[in-house]
Parts: sequence; C-alpha cells; structure tokens
Amino acid sequence: MQKILIVEDERDIADLIGFNLQRAGYEVLKAHDGIAGTEIALRDRPDLIVLDIMLPGRDGYAVFRELRRDPRSVNIPVIMLTARAQTEDRIQGLETGADDYLTKPFSPKELLLRIQAVLKRSEVAPGAVEFTHGPFRFDKNALKFYLDNEPVDLTSTEFKLLLYLCERSGKPQDRNDLLRTVWGYSDEVHSRTLDTHMKRLRQKLGIHGTLVETIRNVGYCVGSVTA
Ligand code: CA
Repeated sequence: MQKILIVEDERDIADLIGFNLQRAGYEVLKAHDGIAGTEIALRDRPDLIVLDIMLPGRDGYAVFRELRRDPRSVNIPVIMLTARAQTEDRIQGLETGADDYLTKPFSPKELLLRIQAVLKRSEVAPGAVEFTHGPFRFDKNALKFYLDNEPVDLTSTEFKLLLYLCERSGKPQDRNDLLRTVWGYSDEVHSRTLDTHMKRLRQKLGIHGTLVETIRNVGYCVGSVTA
C-alpha cells in the first residue's frame, strides 16, 4: 500500500483529503505543522507528500527545501498546495521545483488525479531496464541516474523528463506533449513548471547540460550522440 503524507494545518481540509485518499486505497499520514511534517517525512519515508505552503512554525517552502537537502527525502515527490492564487505565489511555488502544484480550492478528485499522475512517474518502466545516451545512464528499475558513471540525484519528474527526451534524441519534443506525458495535462501555469524543471535539470547535468537544447516556439530536444 502506498503511503501519502498530508502536511496541512487546516484540519478539516486534511481530514477531507485523508478520507478521500484512504478510500482510494492509500495509507495516510497527517501532520498539522511544518516541523512535524518534516519529522514524519524523514522518519516514515512516504511515497508522496501533499504539502500546504501556509503552515505555522515552518512554512511549506522551508519544509520543501529541507526535504530536498536531506538524502532520506530528496526523491520523495511533493505536490504543493496554496490558498492564495496571486501570480507571485504561484511562480514561487513552481520555482521551488515541486513535482506539482495545486491552488485551493480544489476538488479531492482533482488532487487524487494529480497524485496518481505523480506516482505513476515513479513507477518502474516496463521493457529495458537500462538506457544509455552519451554520458547519461538511466537505471529504470531503481530510477537511478548516472552521469559519466557518477550517480546524480534526480527527482522522479526530472528523471522521466530527461529519459523521455533521450529516448527521442535528435527529435524536438513539443512542450505540450512533454507536459501531457510527464504531468498528465498541459496548461499555462504548468508551462512555467516545465521550464523550471528543465533549468534545474541542466544545472544538475553540469557541463553536459548543453545536451538539452531549447527549441524556440517548440519545446526541448536532446541531441543525438555518436556511439
Ligand atoms: Ca494552511
């Protein structure tokens, strides 16, 4: 059974989300402030975290940064929630590098669809277990990524994006197709998310970041490499 941690101080919202997730077959953990949320995430290693931004004690951004710094939680997917819909907040939310983002009010069904899409990204891919492209090596079973044989921590979203581009190397991929494939839908806000993820991905790839090209008015492309 997959475990989902809900970090949300508004108890009626946490209970409503929890109830719906339990009914959908997930084990649910709850925390009502950022400090407890961080502790439970590190101790229980959930499969996914639903993290509210406005929290007492330590806000969602601070919790997220801490989880991404700690090797025990660096790979746990995070969906962020906020009550505020102002553009600045949305953009700050996206730039943290969260795997997905949802603005309140939302329906439990919508959250469930997002959770399922994010968890699907972390699933083991069928077929070949390993895929190599130039300096990149993907272990699809363990979701581990190696750069020049050195392990690099990619989130499951970054892993899936890069693998998708590498498996289609030399062919520019349309941004809406990337969004639909990796996030499960495409809209204007998530278009920003895609760019944020690509920026972080390039940073993690260091000198090989240039292999990921931006194709103006289209999307992204990973160049072909000769064996
Ligand atoms: Ca809150």
